[in-house]
Amino acid sequence: NLSKRLATVASYVPAGARMADIGSDHAYLPAALALQKKISYAVAGEVVKGPYENAVSEIKGHGLTDLIKPRLADGLAAITPADRIDTVVAAGMGGTLIAEILERGKDRLQGVRRLVLQPNVGEGRLRRWLMDNRYQIMAEQIVAEDDHIYEIIVAEPSVVSFRYSDYELMFGPRLLEKKGPVFTAKWRDYIKRQQGVIHQMEQAQKVPVARIAELKQKLALVAEAID
Ligand code: SAM
Repeated sequence: NLSKRLATVASYVPAGARMADIGSDHAYLPAALALQKKISYAVAGEVVKGPYENAVSEIKGHGLTDLIKPRLADGLAAITPADRIDTVVAAGMGGTLIAEILERGKDRLQGVRRLVLQPNVGEGRLRRWLMDNRYQIMAEQIVAEDDHIYEIIVAEPSVVSFRYSDYELMFGPRLLEKKGPVFTAKWRDYIKRQQGVIHQMEQAQKVPVARIAELKQKLALVAEAID
């Protein structure tokens, strides 16, 4: 059984997909989807040997070797045109790393129609990469699990180019449309932590007053978003 986080990621993998799970670790996600007969093919890409071996044994253990191909590779080097991948998942890594993986593997994204991404941090950076590379954010979810809050971003290539505001990049354009209790909890916690940082800066008297005012202004914006 998948965790709530991975189950949410899984829910955005289209039925019958040919998926690549980059940074697959144990290959839990493709294995679960294959067992539920929701995908027709998967590549489980992993750059570190130990996790790669975990993926190999998970796949063998479930008798899924025909359906899921484990590959020891860096990022999108795990896939080739012959795989005919249409859905790429990258979950459980930082947003900056996910953006780097996409950037370095751009040429492998040709036939890919959907990206399902779950950055642990750095969501704004990742959204900016998507925007700069003509991806449209189709759906977003925010889920709480074991004291962590995770965002899931679903993006698809778009023919038109468009811009998200800094505000949308920070909070997520689709999350802003619905917000909800987990969204509010995330940003309330953010405000609390930032207020602590600002307080320390004021005590130390080393940061320019103008900079502190700027930070306070940004926090006011966040407070407004969850109002
Ligand atoms: N995707 C799974 C999940 O969401 O539960 C596993 C997440 S695990 C925390 C992140 C995995 O990504 C690690 O196993 C790590 O070795 C792998 N990884 C990090 N950078 C990678 C890269 N450039 N290419 C492939 N895998 C990578």
